[in-house]
Amino acid sequence: MQVLILGVGDAFTKKHYGSSALVRAPSGYLQIDCPDPIHRVLHEATARHHGQHGWQVGVDAVDDILLTHLHGDHCNGVESVGFWRYVLRAQGKQSHLPRLHATRAVVDRLWPRLAPAMDTLIGLSRPARLEDYFDIRILNPDGKAVHKIAGLEVRARTTTHYIPTVGVLVSDGERTFGWSGDSRFEQAHIDWLDQADFFVHEANFPPAHTTLDELAALPERLKAKMRLVHLADDVDPTPYGLSSLCEGDLLDI
Ligand SMILES: [Zn+2]
Repeated sequence: MQVLILGVGDAFTKKHYGSSALVRAPSGYLQIDCPDPIHRVLHEATARHHGQHGWQVGVDAVDDILLTHLHGDHCNGVESVGFWRYVLRAQGKQSHLPRLHATRAVVDRLWPRLAPAMDTLIGLSRPARLEDYFDIRILNPDGKAVHKIAGLEVRARTTTHYIPTVGVLVSDGERTFGWSGDSRFEQAHIDWLDQADFFVHEANFPPAHTTLDELAALPERLKAKMRLVHLADDVDPTPYGLSSLCEGDLLDI
């Protein structure tokens, strides 16, 4: 399984994009979170790998987007994806809706966030709805339910964050990739992510996030298969014995 890192930043970054990733799936791509400016985010991360690995992926080609939660650094790109894909359908260039995967708690509050910008469409006599832009698929966040997405098996687990948030485990049947989602340190969440062959964990300031000290205290076995994102700009985790990722990194899981 290949995973392309799209963004590694936090909500206040001056240098990066919001933490996000693109998983190459048996049938298409699964994007984990959707920061702004998503067209550029995808363009820059995939441009490094054109030809070399067959990555040339834009918003047109990503049919499955999973939203971990509604903080803007993780979901501000949804409006632009929705509009762009609507334009492609209006022009007859595509016929299908992109699928948006999220928990009920996220979906219920997503449209109130988007509606002021998206509830009027030229040519539509009624107010537009979220379902005019996305095929909504509800994730069960119990950590166990398996969701088939683009040929992958995906599980979601509620994290400990200010608002409803999930981490994910993504499996192609042979290898499993983990993504912590935003979370303060929680041993049970680490244990769940330990089912993965390789996982990405967030780190930032407490109390909403996990500290480098907490992650540094994990067993070496776990740290060997963990890489970090969501660090504040210029925070170097190497003195803690930890490694972070860069935008455009391509992981072979
Ligand atoms: Zn957050």
